[in-house]
Amino acid sequence: MRALEYVRAADPGEAVRLVSGDPQAAFLAGGTTQLDLMKDGVLNPGLLVDITRLPLHGIEPNGEMLHVGSLVTMEELAADPVVAARIPLVREALLAGASTQLRNMATIGGNLLQRPRCRYFRDPAVPQCNKRVPGSGCAAVENTARMHAILGVSERCIAAHASDVAVALVALDAVVRIQGVSGRRAVPLTDFYRTASESPERENVLAHGELITGVDIPLLPAGARSGYLKVRDRASYEFALTSAAVALVVSDGVVRHARVGLGGVGSTPWRAWGVERELSDAPADRATFRQAAESAVRGAWTVPGTAFKVELAQRTLVRALQTVAGVAA
Ligand code: SF4
Repeated sequence: MRALEYVRAADPGEAVRLVSGDPQAAFLAGGTTQLDLMKDGVLNPGLLVDITRLPLHGIEPNGEMLHVGSLVTMEELAADPVVAARIPLVREALLAGASTQLRNMATIGGNLLQRPRCRYFRDPAVPQCNKRVPGSGCAAVENTARMHAILGVSERCIAAHASDVAVALVALDAVVRIQGVSGRRAVPLTDFYRTASESPERENVLAHGELITGVDIPLLPAGARSGYLKVRDRASYEFALTSAAVALVVSDGVVRHARVGLGGVGSTPWRAWGVERELSDAPADRATFRQAAESAVRGAWTVPGTAFKVELAQRTLVRALQTVAGVAA
């Protein structure tokens, strides 16, 4: 039995002060990943600061932006009419994640921060894990690694980021709002994460005690079509082998606007900048999509267990682009 203190924060400032002032403290919101990791002995906080009653539950459209409080649940965001009408790829990505029960508990802020599903990370009996024990090595590189990543990885860590909705949000240029003891800041989601090859032990730019208070999501331009395609081993309650979040504006058979994110293949929700460049002002046809998909996996770093993802990621992206553009397979 481990001693654990629990307090409920009255406001965001108090929550930030409490966690910042104690290196063993952590925020508690939906808890859907955190409590599992605590039971497994991977996380051992000495103090949990409950933030669930903070006023961070709103969904507010403002012009061409949707402001989403970090404590909005996945189900609440998926049910929002603006999300359904203006950024349907976000709704599809949300509903492709977890189970209904989990989506009713899990918050958007927590989803962005969910920890890797790497089995070696989640088992403290495994000594080699650079993420859990910096400098110890990586058990996944030499063992079964079918669910691991091929982009933004190295022999130091190949853990994949597990979120679906973050893939859609990174494609849309969403911005994370953050509050810390020294003030507030806003960070584009494309700059928020750190790759496993950069720093296995540090997954994002948050300092200890900084709290995500919300996410600002730009709405898609008029005429855009979008979708999220997830390839996985079973139809529900399963993480992505590969996925693609795509938004396109196509007119006169030419791609005028493209936003592409990839999931299941990156150590972070992966923005496919090269694909977007290849698609820009190109014909919206299968040949273009296939060529663009090749650039998505350029620089992939694989181990025997993950090599199949190089081709699967391209096929997933081509299928997603064809579906969204209305181009026959
Ligand atoms: Fe740890 Fe990353 Fe290796 Fe998994 S892939 S064992 S999280 S270092």
